[in-house]
Amino acid sequence: MRSLPLLCLSLLLCLSTASAREAAPPVFDVHVHLRDGETSLQAFEADARAAGIELAGLGAMWFGGPHQALAGDPADIRSRNDGVIALAARHPEVVPIGTVHPYDGQAALDELERIAARGVKVLKLHAHTQRFDVADPRVLALVRKAGELGVAVLMDNANIVAGDSENLFNLALRAQDTTFIFAHTGGLNFRFWNILPLARTADGIDMGNVYFDISATLLLMADSPIEDEFLWTLRNVGIDHVILGSDHPQISLAMTLEAFDRLDLSDEEKAAIRFGNARRLFGLDSP
Ligand SMILES: [Zn+2]
Repeated sequence: MRSLPLLCLSLLLCLSTASAREAAPPVFDVHVHLRDGETSLQAFEADARAAGIELAGLGAMWFGGPHQALAGDPADIRSRNDGVIALAARHPEVVPIGTVHPYDGQAALDELERIAARGVKVLKLHAHTQRFDVADPRVLALVRKAGELGVAVLMDNANIVAGDSENLFNLALRAQDTTFIFAHTGGLNFRFWNILPLARTADGIDMGNVYFDISATLLLMADSPIEDEFLWTLRNVGIDHVILGSDHPQISLAMTLEAFDRLDLSDEEKAAIRFGNARRLFGLDSP
């Protein structure tokens, strides 16, 4: 007779663990390229629904693939930025990500100020595809301005350009009032970022302004010979500074989550990376 309540208790525990596992926490995807505005957004969200993903929101950019934001045509960049701002106005789950080209100088600074006033909280810059040098003083001026305006700067960090992580480190050091999100966490050169806990031991260096998105890179890491090193890196930079991203449409969110679930992270760490950190950084509501 004694064993019955015990059995019930353990059954209840099992059931509640199973339902907790099924109800995975919501996910915010910070790295989504929408090549065709509304149509692309509908397709992205339909894919997420079909994969059973509870989507808390997405950071949406208009450029990438066939659309590039090159120097010399700020009017084109302006109208495309307006497109993603309009999309976000119709869809509260969309965090609009704008861009400018640092070499457009004053026009870039003016456009940044204009889109910040229209609610853009993230600026994306891509040194490789936009063909600029991260060490150029116009980049520093631009990202400092972003910091003044409360706009975070998402920068490609796939290490396609030589010295990528080193240049980004110096940029973040010189613009400590600007929040950065380094996309792809350095790619296969992710080990570089283990310098952060050492850098923080220096006087006056905090580097708490540096976040990472683990898009694309994490696909190679799950169950790889270097997975442990990658997770060690994420813990060294701070799990509270790591955000999930897919790089859709190159890589789907479903593929990303399938790899992410295989990483040997705790449930608490996974929840923070899936949504908690983005919610805090962007001031998002729960879905
Ligand atoms: Zn991308």
